[in-house]
Amino acid sequence: MDFKFSDREELLRKTARDYAEKELPPRMEAMEETGEFPVELLPSMGAMGILGVITAPQYGGIGMGQLARIIVLEELGRVCPAIPMALQVHHMCTYAIGTWGNDEQKAKYLPRLAKGETMGVVAVTEPSGGSDVAGLQTTAKLEGDNYILNGRKCFITNSHTGDIWVVIARTGEGGKGLSAFIVEKDYPGAKTGRKENKVGLRGANTGELAFTNCEVPKENLLGQEGMGMSIAIRDIVECGRPGMTAVALGILNAVCEQAVKFANERSLYGKSISKLQAIQWYLAEIYSDLEISRLLAYRVGWMLDEKIDCAAESALAKQYACEAAARSARKAIEIHGSYGIMKEYPVQRLLRDALVTIPAGGTAEISKLVLARQALAVFGQG
Ligand SMILES: Cc1cc2nc3c(=O)[nH]c(=O)nc-3n(C[C@H](O)[C@H](O)[C@H](O)COP(=O)(O)OP(=O)(O)OC[C@H]3O[C@@H](n4cnc5c(N)ncnc54)[C@H](O)[C@@H]3O)c2cc1C
Repeated sequence: MDFKFSDREELLRKTARDYAEKELPPRMEAMEETGEFPVELLPSMGAMGILGVITAPQYGGIGMGQLARIIVLEELGRVCPAIPMALQVHHMCTYAIGTWGNDEQKAKYLPRLAKGETMGVVAVTEPSGGSDVAGLQTTAKLEGDNYILNGRKCFITNSHTGDIWVVIARTGEGGKGLSAFIVEKDYPGAKTGRKENKVGLRGANTGELAFTNCEVPKENLLGQEGMGMSIAIRDIVECGRPGMTAVALGILNAVCEQAVKFANERSLYGKSISKLQAIQWYLAEIYSDLEISRLLAYRVGWMLDEKIDCAAESALAKQYACEAAARSARKAIEIHGSYGIMKEYPVQRLLRDALVTIPAGGTAEISKLVLARQALAVFGQG
């Protein structure tokens, strides 16, 4: 196994870091207040290849892999985690169209998404329960040249900034009766609903999509009828969970930086608190969680690029890194004493951001189901 990044990946990391440090801090206060994603950055993100990092060059992307994507999201998240939250779902949309779309669909939608003309959306979750994908209720009925969609999606990232939606809807019975569609925001009967007011990752907007006799041209079916469940699950496993892992990794980087900075600067008993063993233990635990999460994240990126099945590794990385980000942010707050819960210090925001990563892309309990299944399969042979 080779732990060395390619020159291209190193360059991408540096470029993403420089971009994040220059462009994101001036916008973060407004993002926090308004809950709005800074859409004015989309063209520059497109030009740098951030939006089309996993999109093939023939469709306007830079055709790098999932490891490169994790690197970019980590660097952006180190400065402002809401940005990679939004972008990771945008990538899920490009991944779905790039993987299951036909040539016409790819040519029509991917260049717009790679360039940053708009953002991509993937809509699976419904008010009836996100964990029970097979039970979703939005219907799609073929009538003439259109599928007619009726139903409602909730907790959808980029709901109010994305114009290209990959929507999972029911064309038949049970889990095998789901299909995926590319829906444009302007299609008759498609509407955005309420915007959620989240405690963290506020700059990535989350909201509802509603379909009332929404007319979707039949050529916008993604893959074949009945493939919706497999598209949804594979998009989550191969793109969504690695993406959420990278968001959490970005948060862990920021938590570690803030914890060390404060511990070095705060002086008690005539010396820096970083000399106190209790504080050093916190730092050691935070640092360990960062490094473990990083290894788990990069392993998944590497496995995906090598086309190795990694459903369990993807669930493990996501679940571990998101929980690690939350517990590490909590420890960083302890290091700060009362300053930790003051708005001027970023650690309180990092805790709020980390908490939001936990259900997004599948809850901790659902990840544990995947991991238990893996443990039973690997060690249960007697
Ligand atoms: C910031 C954010 C962004 C999101 N973005 C998107 C998006 O872009 N697109 C999208 O489709 N969805 C998105 N979601 C939705 C997310 O995927 C769902 O919220 C998640 O899957 C959980 O669904 P739920 O909230 O309906 O909880 P439920 O499914 O109702 O679960 C409730 C509780 O029951 C537990 N539970 C459920 N089933 C089991 C089981 N079998 N065994 C044990 N425990 C179980 C859950 O773990 C949870 O604790 C986003 C969510 C967030 C927070």
